[in-house]
Amino acid sequence: MSLFESPFFQDAFSQLESAGATMNMDPNVLERLKYPKRALQVSVPVRLDDGTVKVFEGYRVQHNMTLGPGKGGVRFHPHVSLSETAALAMLMTFKCALVGLPLGGAKGGIKVDPNDLSRAELQALTRRYTTEISMMIGPDKDIPAPDIGTDGQTMAWMMDTYSQLGGYAVPGVVTGKPIAIGGSLGRAESTGKGVVFCINFAYEKLGKKVGTSTTVAIHGFGKVGMPAAQDLDAQGAKIVAISDVSGAIYNPKGLDIPACVEWVRSRKYLKDMPGAELITNEQLLELDVDVLIPAAIDGVVTKDNAHRVKAKMIAEGANGPLTHEAVDIISARGGLIIPDILCNAGGVIVSYFEWVQGLQMFFWDLETVNKKLHDIMKLAFDKVWECSQKYKVNMKQAAFIASLDRIQGAMRLRGMWP
Ligand code: NAD
Repeated sequence: MSLFESPFFQDAFSQLESAGATMNMDPNVLERLKYPKRALQVSVPVRLDDGTVKVFEGYRVQHNMTLGPGKGGVRFHPHVSLSETAALAMLMTFKCALVGLPLGGAKGGIKVDPNDLSRAELQALTRRYTTEISMMIGPDKDIPAPDIGTDGQTMAWMMDTYSQLGGYAVPGVVTGKPIAIGGSLGRAESTGKGVVFCINFAYEKLGKKVGTSTTVAIHGFGKVGMPAAQDLDAQGAKIVAISDVSGAIYNPKGLDIPACVEWVRSRKYLKDMPGAELITNEQLLELDVDVLIPAAIDGVVTKDNAHRVKAKMIAEGANGPLTHEAVDIISARGGLIIPDILCNAGGVIVSYFEWVQGLQMFFWDLETVNKKLHDIMKLAFDKVWECSQKYKVNMKQAAFIASLDRIQGAMRLRGMWP
């Protein structure tokens, strides 16, 4: 597959072009941003438990590093491709710029279903992938983090592999590590927490408050969806539906979120959870709720189902869950969309904190992490809100414009080499 082939890349591309046209962006800068800086494809051979060798396809893409080292997750999923990874790397550039981090955009992944592999096979896969991309990553170059299908354990194996190659511990090479090896307090729940901060900021702008009458549906109950559900539950909101790859569960009176968390931790999948009706993921997306949080994968709301999505507010927890056309359809009927590059930026913000703490070997308490996260997200939210009023565009376009404005300034200052 070529770089430009996936619908996800084309979608990111069209959002970029449309924001660039609205803000009258320098066409030379815009042209540069359409292409990643570097893309590496690797073959990752793994000896499986049965003695056979299987080769997996892996990627690392650095989109733009004008503002600092590359930053972006590593995804283990059967749909990973060069084009999808390039699109996600592009979104990381815009996300880091929007929230004011000294970081560029990158992304990586392996085309694999991690549920099909044993722990030993996963460890071998992760270590060989890290070795293959080791010339591209490093604390000053490009710093991976967890994404779909990867977690703190994956990051620990990546950190160890990179450190073994150098001969000394290099905690700054990845973020999202377990606390015992240099992770940051608050990183695990930071993306979900940031999503909930954004929902609250949006409610404030509308002169309302999240409370017991606020109904919520969450698509994807993983590292983003679960902590978002826990924070909204703690605020008293009524979470009527949640889902994972096995299906969605629904209870109009509100789900018992602590029980759902316990269920998933012990049994992995939601579908047999008692006390709720089983519905499909598609039905969940179309529920008549105050807030919908798509927090699973990209492209779940498109022009085909956008007309049936009734939520008043959509907080994009996942990267690219709504296509450009879906955003336009929902915005036209007055739905408020909090865009991914703002809404799910909590993860990269606390990853940045983790990187800084690791470089200084000085670690902060949870209160400091959460307060700094809140303040950065508030600044970014207000900037996007103001931009949307100034240009009379939806929040998605506004986020791209605010972000492009910062990148454009930096790229012009640095100039082009040679
Ligand atoms: P995860 O693997 O922890 O969880 C994903 C959840 O989505 C799981 O519940 C899974 O069962 C479900 N899911 C997967 N495929 C599905 C499908 N086809 N239909 C319905 N549900 C499906 O992943 P995550 O880290 O929570 O990431 C979710 C999204 O958030 C991704 O788009 C990711 O890029 C984005 N994101 C993650 C972070 C982070 O810090 N983890 C930060 C920013 C953005």
